[in-house]
Amino acid sequence: MVITIPRLGNTHMAMRALFDAFGIACIIPENNKAVLQRGTAAAPEDMCLPFKIMMGGFLGAIEQGADTILLTGSCGPCRFGEYGELFSRLLKQTGHPADVIVIDAPAEIGMKTLLSRFGRIAEASRAPRRVKIAALGQAYQILALADALDAAAYKLAGYERETGACARLLAAFRREMRACRGPEAALKVLESYHRQIRRIGMDPSRKPLRVAIAGEVYSMFEPFANLNIEERLMRMGVATERLLTPTWWLRDLVLKPLHLNSPEVKKRSAPYLPVPVGGHARETIAHAEYARQSGMDGVIQIFPMGCMPEIVAKAALHGVDVPVLTLVIDEMTGDAGYDTRIEAFLDMLEARRRRAKRWA
Ligand code: SF4
Repeated sequence: MVITIPRLGNTHMAMRALFDAFGIACIIPENNKAVLQRGTAAAPEDMCLPFKIMMGGFLGAIEQGADTILLTGSCGPCRFGEYGELFSRLLKQTGHPADVIVIDAPAEIGMKTLLSRFGRIAEASRAPRRVKIAALGQAYQILALADALDAAAYKLAGYERETGACARLLAAFRREMRACRGPEAALKVLESYHRQIRRIGMDPSRKPLRVAIAGEVYSMFEPFANLNIEERLMRMGVATERLLTPTWWLRDLVLKPLHLNSPEVKKRSAPYLPVPVGGHARETIAHAEYARQSGMDGVIQIFPMGCMPEIVAKAALHGVDVPVLTLVIDEMTGDAGYDTRIEAFLDMLEARRRRAKRWA
């Protein structure tokens, strides 16, 4: 078995370490313009951007020898529920057949089916059971530490004494993780970068703009899908916070069958969007409400063109008393227009602060 998975933020670091421990070859596609172009040509025109990026990545990975695609499942009534079936059909049509294993919530497919899907992967590994169990725990730790490092860097970038220190640290971390094999080595790299970020000089007297990043889940996890929004904002000295991370998503998935998932999301979003509309629309609203309550300056909502749940969230966001910039991304979105809109929004937030000070 040679597995491929979509490149999805930090998840590939954890999954690579996991498959290294399992002794299963894993090909992680790159996400770039060429991959997107290829995926766009092969995908139905009206499919959303995440599908097109993943499609391009899978085509390349299968050409490199991958025969199995591992994918997570649906998140309510949106097109994500069709991805597995559609990939399977389209890849076959283009002469790139692959076995698609969809890992879905037990509430959707039943615990028995879920275990049998995991079983197909476990059977392909000759690693002893205790190694596999330990590797699962280590993979979760890798994911949690990588997400925590990102979150710290995105927030601290607004307070750093030396401009660009947090961004440089993240870039070095990502380079080192690329060459890293096995869970132990990955954990060592992560611990070292957590120590390093604590040593970056901060100026607590700074009052940077504080912006929440919210929106469609794939665009939240994968920097290529949001045109590196957080890194752009780091360069501009803005402190950002994001609710949706792969670690958050995993915890939410595990707690869902027990109805213990994200009580604060339901509570904060209920006045604006009382019913689930699929995707992570409620999380978008909840994070905007959190930004309002915690005195953040604004919210940037990002989603792929045609994303139904986020279009509903965009309408509901009008009710939340916080400035919102909505960025809709498709395969044609370019850097220049994107930067201009972000800069104009930040200028507006600065002006709003100055006005509030004058009136105080
Ligand atoms: S949440 Fe939006 S972009 Fe993501 S799969 Fe669903 S419809 Fe597509």
